[in-house]
Amino acid sequence: MQHLPHYLRDLNPEQREAALATEGPVLILAGAGSGKTRTLVFRIAHLLRTGVDPRSILAVTFTNKAALEMRERVAKMVGKEAKGVLLSTFHSLGARLLRDHGTRIGLPKDFAIYPTGDQAQLVKRIISEEVHVVATAGEDSFDAKKVLFQIGDWKNRMVDPAGAAQEVASGRMRGNRTDDYAVLAAAVYPRYEASLRAAGACDFDDLLLLPVKLLREDAEVREKCWRRWRYLMIDEYQDTNGAQLEMARLLSGPLKNLCVVGDDDQSIYAWRGADVRNILDFERQFPGCKVVVMEENYRSTQRILDAANGVIAHNTTRREKRLRTGNGPGPKVDLWEFADNGQRSAEEQEAEMVAREIGVRRWHEQLRWSDFAVLYRTNLQAKPVEETLRAANIPYRVIGGQSYFDRKEVADAVAYLRVIINPADEGSLRRIVNYPTRGIGRTTLMKLVDASREAGRPLWETMRRVAEVDGVSRAQREPVRHFVETIEELQVEYRATEAAIAAGQVEERTLMGFVKEAVKRLRLEEAVRADNAKSERAAEVRVDILRDFVASIGTYEERTWTAQPLPDEEDDWNPPALREFLERISLSEEDDRKDKEEDDPDRVTLMSMHAAKGLEFTHVFIIGLEEDILPHSRSVQAVADESGIDPIAEERRLFYVGITRARHRLTLSGCATRRQRGDSIPRQPSRFLKEIPVELVEHRSGQSRTSLAPEEAKEMKENFFARMKEMLGQQ
Ligand code: ATP
Ligand code: MG
Repeated sequence: MQHLPHYLRDLNPEQREAALATEGPVLILAGAGSGKTRTLVFRIAHLLRTGVDPRSILAVTFTNKAALEMRERVAKMVGKEAKGVLLSTFHSLGARLLRDHGTRIGLPKDFAIYPTGDQAQLVKRIISEEVHVVATAGEDSFDAKKVLFQIGDWKNRMVDPAGAAQEVASGRMRGNRTDDYAVLAAAVYPRYEASLRAAGACDFDDLLLLPVKLLREDAEVREKCWRRWRYLMIDEYQDTNGAQLEMARLLSGPLKNLCVVGDDDQSIYAWRGADVRNILDFERQFPGCKVVVMEENYRSTQRILDAANGVIAHNTTRREKRLRTGNGPGPKVDLWEFADNGQRSAEEQEAEMVAREIGVRRWHEQLRWSDFAVLYRTNLQAKPVEETLRAANIPYRVIGGQSYFDRKEVADAVAYLRVIINPADEGSLRRIVNYPTRGIGRTTLMKLVDASREAGRPLWETMRRVAEVDGVSRAQREPVRHFVETIEELQVEYRATEAAIAAGQVEERTLMGFVKEAVKRLRLEEAVRADNAKSERAAEVRVDILRDFVASIGTYEERTWTAQPLPDEEDDWNPPALREFLERISLSEEDDRKDKEEDDPDRVTLMSMHAAKGLEFTHVFIIGLEEDILPHSRSVQAVADESGIDPIAEERRLFYVGITRARHRLTLSGCATRRQRGDSIPRQPSRFLKEIPVELVEHRSGQSRTSLAPEEAKEMKENFFARMKEMLGQQ
């Protein structure tokens, strides 16, 4: 041990072995909380300490938050050298590869990334304008999201439109889902792809698929990547899909310095095409790889670990893993159940319990707000908790949930910016062509669309030549001409702004200034007010959201300038640019409503169990432990299909992920009734609750307790005075 650098002494022997095995393929397959991510951090630090160029290290994680956390941890260990290491999500990495080399596969330099809302719009448009199918009896129209989901499933498995058509024709669909939707999706898929390409846009799946295509087809790019990234690490490898596996394989190149870590029990993204076989087959795909198994859990207390093990043991096909911990037994798992008491609904009481427990425990155990997390199965469950926390003045942050782009005000502004950057983006163009209302009616628009299809030119070009389009009257032409003029003026200013930024002749918030001016000239605030004419308050909230969006551009600019490296430092830094800003917000998961308050990190976290992967909190709440929530109704109804995906087993893994986020205390809760349109509907407790050994559980009465129990009050009082004395003593 003596000769070891001191930082390696903080690892156990298995972790150390993994951190030191820097050359060749390495697989770390180990349970939750066993220090997999920590080992990666130490491995990066070790590489840097041994003189490896930071720029040749690439680590891929699952969420932006995880990437950020890793960067901070590496920086703490090795200092500013960490800056050169690329820590990224697969999607951000893909976006970056496309930004750098996408033109080689025909993607414009300023390609847009379509968020789900825009994708759905596009699918709707294709269904109504190009496929011309009518929904089957009983449905008004097709659900675009279902079509998208199917297309996404193909893309994640790298099945192209021709392959999709074959799958449908031969009835060999995954999960045998050859229903109307599959047929429709197969018809939409090629057109959807063509529209995206024509608009110079990508969807999320393309951020994986297109880089794979690029790396496969372009030896020059491939070799460039190999020269650049010589050490590749992937966290949460159990959740990679086919495209991600291929990207990893292609990037690892001939050196094969690829270290992957994961836990098959935490594979929770099969519904998005993740394939747990990727981790289980790693040894076969990378022969001669070193396999490291870690069995000590450093995160949780014994009872939490036992609860997690009790649950996951009910999954039959898994690699048996033993996890032990030296952390002591810890408190029992609290289980609360609530019922409607006439005055308050069960879900209100559940939310109140969360707020009250957080308040009490924070005092008792001297915790920070950020030591608490409230986890749930679906984002909708956040609402009552959010409301209660707000009323109780408890600071919180919601991760995930409604995305930034789903807010109409933001989406409209973004569409304008996209059109200014790239007017060939037809989806965005159509979104704003008559917003705010400017007299370009649907008839005129359809004439323009038809003309542009006929001439085979983008809609924007057709609009610019509106005078040449047959059947458009002078009165119809005028607003089109005016619109084109406005956009063209803004384009000129946009280019001048970015040129000035590139030349360094700028203030810190130059881009924001441009966008602010554009919003003013386009009269977007007035349009928002007009849309919300019924309620002044709603109108103000919406206008605020739009203003926050504009302000967030300024924040982005400031941050980018601050991160500017010194002239002699080699870096990938670029000055702020609008398209980069748009890319960032499409790739970020955080709910940006809280952007203004972001600087205070001490808040309770609310998020789905999916989003919580890899994170840890001192006290974790999991709410809504009821059948049809966890397991989700979709999974209860689905049957295990022939591809081997068992939906209940996946829900169970999700619960396992949720439980293992907790370090010290775990609180579970569910409702015996839920209100639906005024009625109290009975609910069944989640089947997974029975799988937790009874001796670990403390049943709590659901009778809403508004005050502390006497012993708690006494303890709190004593604590209070003890702390007071301590504080006075310090002065
Ligand atoms: P998950 O499967 O949930 O992603 P993980 O295996 O990645 O978990 P980490 O998050 O790396 O686990 O570690 C869990 C906790 O245990 C962290 O707080 C980490 O600092 C701590 N830990 C890990 N290894 C050690 C060690 N050798 N000594 C002390 N603490 C450790
Ligand atoms: Mg981890």
